[in-house]
Amino acid sequence: MMNNSNQFLGEYKSAPNAAAATVNITVNATGIAYKPANYAQWTTIQITEMAGIHTFNESNVVINFGVYPYQSIICRDDQFLQQLKLQCHNYPIIANLFKNGKSTFIKLMLFIAAFIIGLALIIYFFLLPWMVDKAVENFPSDYEKKFGKVMFDQVKTAEKWDESQTKLLNNFFDSLHFKSNYNIEILCVKKEDLNAYALPGGYIVVYDGILKKMKYKEELAGLLAHEFSHIKLKHTLKSTFNSIGFSALLQMIFGGFDDAVIGLLGNQTEQLRQLHYSRSLEQEADENGFNLMKEQQLNPNGMINLFERLKTESNDMIPTILSTHPLPEQRIKYIQNLIHENKFKVKDNKSLEVIFEKLKDDDEHAY
Ligand SMILES: [Zn+2]
Repeated sequence: MMNNSNQFLGEYKSAPNAAAATVNITVNATGIAYKPANYAQWTTIQITEMAGIHTFNESNVVINFGVYPYQSIICRDDQFLQQLKLQCHNYPIIANLFKNGKSTFIKLMLFIAAFIIGLALIIYFFLLPWMVDKAVENFPSDYEKKFGKVMFDQVKTAEKWDESQTKLLNNFFDSLHFKSNYNIEILCVKKEDLNAYALPGGYIVVYDGILKKMKYKEELAGLLAHEFSHIKLKHTLKSTFNSIGFSALLQMIFGGFDDAVIGLLGNQTEQLRQLHYSRSLEQEADENGFNLMKEQQLNPNGMINLFERLKTESNDMIPTILSTHPLPEQRIKYIQNLIHENKFKVKDNKSLEVIFEKLKDDDEHAY
């Protein structure tokens, strides 16, 4: 007679994708036996014939056996696993099952590890950005200016720059009449690179490579409006804090903003020249830049024109300004939307036109 406590209902599959047939299963000291309910003959499977045993949720057991692709016995009775443990625990394949699946110590360690990883993620994604925001908000503006000047002076020393183009660019910016708490200073670096970038504290660097690609004054106005917005909205400061890392940030918060700290940070200028901004900061700068163009009644299509031209004229290389500024297509669309929703009257600005022509003239003579 079969002992009821050692007989289980389960399923047999002749292959992984085959239909399951209901079977009775028993456990003995060397393995298991199974048969369909209406059969008399039991089929035995020795533990040594088993290719693998898998448990799910501690009661769902799958035993693979035979040759690949394996036949399998599936049992969802939680007593089945207990019987296997009771009768066959001397076999490593069974013993391991309980070692891996049930150790509360391992579970505790996994829980602690998950907790630590979770905490680290929270610090990285929430606490650090929050600290950076706080540091940016509370960073005194005269220190921001000093800090930016250290970086700007290093660019001036490291790069070849054009004095008369620099003067004209500064005149051009002054004639834009953007309202600002910063005293904006622009440098024209003699480099073929299609690039322009802003530094904290009111500094903008424009490469003459990108100036040469410009056809209309509104393109330069749009570019400067965008870079100026990164400064005004303190994106430059934020991005700098993000790149100099956590320890330097702590030094600034707790060590005071003295000249020594500013000097220390200034040494990292090399990495800081190419600040990257998140997509949302780029949109903010585009929106603020657009509003500046609107205030001065300048044609806001300038920025779009420039981007479209840079895209099509530079098949062989991606202009730096497009690669450091994410997703030109989406940004063009974003600016187009702003233009569409905020229609305004465009006014011509003669003094900008005159300075822009001089800039272009200078370009031609220089090469
Ligand atoms: Zn930007």
